Amino acid sequence: MAASLRLRGAVSGLRYWSRRQRPAAYSLAAEPEAPWTNELRSMASKTPVGFIGLGNMGNPMAKNLMKHGYPLIIYDVFPDACKEFQDAGEQVVSSPADVAEKADRIITMLPTSINAIEAYSGANGILKKVKKGSLLIDSSTIDPAVSKELAKEVEKMGAVFMDAPVSGGVGAARSGNLTFMVGGVEDEFAAAQELLGCMGSNVVYCGAVGTGQAAKICNNMLLAISMIGTAETMNLGIRLGLDPKLLAKILNMSSGRCWSSDTYNPVPGVMDGVPSANNYQGGFGATLMAKDLGLAQDSATSTKSPILLGSQAHQIYRMMCAKGYSKKDFSSVFQFLREEESF
Ligand code: NAD
Repeated sequence: MAASLRLRGAVSGLRYWSRRQRPAAYSLAAEPEAPWTNELRSMASKTPVGFIGLGNMGNPMAKNLMKHGYPLIIYDVFPDACKEFQDAGEQVVSSPADVAEKADRIITMLPTSINAIEAYSGANGILKKVKKGSLLIDSSTIDPAVSKELAKEVEKMGAVFMDAPVSGGVGAARSGNLTFMVGGVEDEFAAAQELLGCMGSNVVYCGAVGTGQAAKICNNMLLAISMIGTAETMNLGIRLGLDPKLLAKILNMSSGRCWSSDTYNPVPGVMDGVPSANNYQGGFGATLMAKDLGLAQDSATSTKSPILLGSQAHQIYRMMCAKGYSKKDFSSVFQFLREEESF
């Protein structure tokens, strides 16, 4: 009887509490093991999760949370992005503030720092209605300095912020195999891991807030450089008369192999199921890559680090965006190079 009352009470008013703020009555760890504890744990984990930003990445990530049984509270500035979630019975609301009112664990997956600031601190942002003890996880790739500022604002409201940008692309988002790079208070990592583990196969704690973004920016600078290198190499080989599939096969069994050559080849016809096989639609937009390289450039300036190839890659992606490639996947740098006969 006592146990069932406690179970009902806990679940009906259940919310995510940070470890530092969680009252003893809500602490599962502090309670003696009882036969109903596992049931409570599994019911507890099925409280609604807020998800803001249902684009190329957010859409499959949110679907993986649904597959794990989490009801969702959904918001995107572009209403069409919410439609299939509404059709699936998830709750769609009209602002990030409304998400914060209904969910105390929220994931944001937005394009840029400006969008993240708007979603958190805007007129109808999360911070307007965030509940004490909420866990806010930002998986967008943004400026680490902005993550740190957001964390301070969130902390003032008695909630917890973690940056958890991802690597892996749309394919990994669909299959639940993303890598999350997580920055924030270490004590809160386990709570974040519970949700992130539904969407990724690697969830790595990097350190204080902002360090997840630092790791992500470094990864994407290397990715941009290797994608341009792969595109240049493939283009040269094709012009030397090599069959692109054969060349890719040789690279992938040789020392030139990299993710851009063996998993995301930029040449149409070499691989199925990648953006180059679909006129560079979907995937990771050239604009987003230009944005990430801009973040790398800013970080290199502030840390006085030489990034000669990273800077060059930044200019190439900026030029691509100005020349009509902004909506295409970043692997379209292959097409861009082919069209630049005068280089
Ligand atoms: P996207 O542009 O496809 O989707 C972003 C979504 O956010 C859109 O639906 C947009 O309408 C919505 N949005 C924008 N501002 C908003 C706001 N203020 N409130 C609510 N919704 C808002 O972008 P994406 O490809 O899904 O990328 C999201 C983030 O993940 C970016 O920071 C990107 O750099 C990063 N990322 C992308 C990939 C990839 O392969 N696409 C891989 C790793 C990381």
